[in-house]
Amino acid sequence: MKHLYHASALDPTMPVKSWWAETLPEVATYPALSGDVETEVAIIGGGYTGLSAAYHLARDHDIGVVVLERAHPGWGASGRNAGFCCMGSARLPWDRIAARFGIEEARRFWRSQKHSVELVAEVAAREGIDIEKAGGGEITLAHLPSRARSMREEASYLDATFGATHLFLSKPDLVERGLNSPRLYAGVLDPVGFGLNPWKYVNGLAAAARAAGARIHGGTEVLRWTRSSGRHELLTLAGRVRAAKVLIATAAYTPEDLHDDFGGRVLPALSSIVVTRPLTRDEIRLQGWSDTTPACDSRHLLHYFRLLPDGRFLFGGRGGLSAAPAMRARQLARIEAAFRCYFPAWSDAEITHRWSGLVCLAADLVPHVGAWEEQPGSYFALCYHGNGVAMGTWSGRAAARVIAGVSEKREDDERASFIRRPPPRFPLAFLRPLYLRGAYLKYGIDDVMP
Ligand SMILES: Cc1cc2nc3c(=O)[nH]c(=O)nc-3n(C[C@H](O)[C@H](O)[C@H](O)COP(=O)(O)OP(=O)(O)OC[C@H]3O[C@@H](n4cnc5c(N)ncnc54)[C@H](O)[C@@H]3O)c2cc1C
Repeated sequence: MKHLYHASALDPTMPVKSWWAETLPEVATYPALSGDVETEVAIIGGGYTGLSAAYHLARDHDIGVVVLERAHPGWGASGRNAGFCCMGSARLPWDRIAARFGIEEARRFWRSQKHSVELVAEVAAREGIDIEKAGGGEITLAHLPSRARSMREEASYLDATFGATHLFLSKPDLVERGLNSPRLYAGVLDPVGFGLNPWKYVNGLAAAARAAGARIHGGTEVLRWTRSSGRHELLTLAGRVRAAKVLIATAAYTPEDLHDDFGGRVLPALSSIVVTRPLTRDEIRLQGWSDTTPACDSRHLLHYFRLLPDGRFLFGGRGGLSAAPAMRARQLARIEAAFRCYFPAWSDAEITHRWSGLVCLAADLVPHVGAWEEQPGSYFALCYHGNGVAMGTWSGRAAARVIAGVSEKREDDERASFIRRPPPRFPLAFLRPLYLRGAYLKYGIDDVMP
């Protein structure tokens, strides 16, 4: 099937050599579909979104559901991310969300994001998933001294508008908290959020969905999607699924030709991660970085990093325009160089794991979850802009509720109006790689301007 990126980044037979995979080497298997099945709901994509939708459909609504995943559940972004369970699934700044859609809709969206973080903790606790919860909140760090002021102003705006409770951290505060880097000058702590092990979480979610009654097929790519007489038919290599309703939960791995009217609606972008060997206590003391709270810098093309529970350090970043193996290796080398620059005391610490994956962007820079009115029986949940651990879980549940036809029960379960429509098609969609190039160029310049 067609995709914007090099085939090797999409090949389901390629193992993802992430550190996380080593923390849980033995995982349950999900056999490929064989033969024809009828179901109420079919879900394409077995990441947090598809699995959360399946879990909630089966558990809360007793609806028959089949998940079709091209590789293993969690093979996409869900099993290989940095494990930041935090707010922030839109790229559109909050003041622009409020200006464009109105303050009430912005507040609704804020509440849903805050609740999404709680939902992950709730599901993990209920299902006994050992997600290795770590840190308290999420910290944004000024990568230039001049950014401290704008970060502080933004935090004050969010506190006043949405009732957030940010804490400003001066350079001495950072040092005192064990967040010391010569290249990071101040910080803002959002107490909402924590770190987790994404691979354990996604495998636990798959097990919980199956236990609740969902049928999950790994190694099962949807090759063609046809519709007639109000039924959908999904063709795979060794069987067919006929369903009344279909949920698209394929995020950045969505093939361009998955559906004849869904092409050109998402823009996948690369994100890359390196992980060190466990650092010694002395090394951690020498650098002065001992806090396990997930952190990122203030760049547009941001770097994100966490001290992991076993003393390894994870460092990631966005950027890179090609997923061809040589280009991915080059991007990983850039990420490693940025890591060494931020943490000079660890300049010799060996990198044991390197990998990359795709995050999913929308033309209007907000997530999308809902019923596709023009295509009866079709639903979508995607575009979390590199922040889908919490929002993918929440959106899967929101999609399950829309599919089941039940109303959103609590205030913080409500979808803002602007996320209910399908992702708009990019204008001149074939130019998406150029748009990304242009954006990266602009970000690159902005990021070095004082
Ligand atoms: C390197 C990296 C770091 C990240 N870090 C963070 C982080 O720290 N915190 C955070 O919140 N977010 C992070 N993200 C983003 C986050 O991982 C995603 O937003 C989230 O996992 C999306 O979940 P999903 O279920 O919607 O999609 P995915 O997990 O990507 O799942 C989509 C699935 O669809 C399957 N699929 C595609 N086409 C077909 C087909 N035709 N038939 C069958 N199956 C198909 C794919 O195989 C894939 O497994 C990161 C992403 C990356 C790549």
